[in-house]
Amino acid sequence: MNTIDYLRISLIDKCNFRCQYCMPEEQELNYLLSEDILTKQELLTLVKQVFIPLGFTKFRLTGGEPLLRPDLVDIIAEINNLSATRDISLTTNGYLLANQAQSLYDAGLKRINISLDSLNQDTFDEIIGNHGKSRWHQTWLGIQRAYDVGFNPLKLNVVVIPGVNDSEVLDLAQLTINKNWHIRFIEFMPIGNSQLFTKKAWIPSEEIRQQIRAKWGLEESNIRGNGPADVFKIPNAKGTLGFISQMSECFCDRCNRVRLSADGWLRPCLLNETGQVNLKKALRTGKNINFIQKKVQDLLLLKPEINFKERESGTNNIYSRTMSQIGG
Ligand code: SAM
Ligand code: SF4
Repeated sequence: MNTIDYLRISLIDKCNFRCQYCMPEEQELNYLLSEDILTKQELLTLVKQVFIPLGFTKFRLTGGEPLLRPDLVDIIAEINNLSATRDISLTTNGYLLANQAQSLYDAGLKRINISLDSLNQDTFDEIIGNHGKSRWHQTWLGIQRAYDVGFNPLKLNVVVIPGVNDSEVLDLAQLTINKNWHIRFIEFMPIGNSQLFTKKAWIPSEEIRQQIRAKWGLEESNIRGNGPADVFKIPNAKGTLGFISQMSECFCDRCNRVRLSADGWLRPCLLNETGQVNLKKALRTGKNINFIQKKVQDLLLLKPEINFKERESGTNNIYSRTMSQIGG
């Protein structure tokens, strides 16, 4: 059984974008009330007193859009200062990053993933559901700033959607040739209620690899992250290309993570809610730490079974919670 030592923490369910594949504009969203979101203190109690004693060493902060959370820098600094923390990272859409990159870095964050689905302003705005002044430049500025500040690795997440941004695969891959940037192509997942589910909305990673191989060649990289990405590189490129292929190639057997939603639900698996436990309720009803640890331990024991059951049954549910609510 895998060692499960990686916690993804959704800090907030709100976002300043409405990406088609995550929080599509046509979907009515009921945001959490602020009192339903785990406070900084509750989060730190869980990290320090529950997850670290259970062997967790890697923490990724995500959302919704985590840069909307006013206490983000403090949360990072506190988690980073814990001696057991081996790795703290953040996933952001980058729109507010230009102004925050330095303070995040100074707080101890060194690894960052920024979503960038297109190099074309119009396509970008179409994907993120923006109708006003283009948001591409501000996002690009955020990426540049993160690079200048020294984030390493700097990863760019791309969800490839047929007919929308799949024609840009080579342009995006090319960014890794001269810069130590890591592009990760993600297969779209049927989570939430997007219109995209009505058609085949994902492209197998192997098709993308074939395009890149035909243009430049592609070699397996010896750099392996904590995560599910299969990592390759264009020969002699400075950066790498990761492929996250949850639809075409099951990686449940190497999954090492669980997810904590902004409202305190701990989920064993992105695609399965079975067995989830409400840690916020446990904290707020005064349950002691041993009780909460035991709940988490029980969930960790269930985790592999839950992943595989879903895969083997071949169900293709449309999951009611979006990525922004679960914490992507
Ligand atoms: N707002 C931040 C961002 O966009 O990077 C962090 C949260 S977002 C939910 C985390 C990651 O999930 C992003 O890289 C996004 O592209 C990815 N994501 C969201 N919905 C997805 C879906 N249906 N299929 C695949 N990836 C998805
Ligand atoms: Fe917001 Fe990230 Fe979801 Fe896009 S993917 S809507 S940026 S949470």
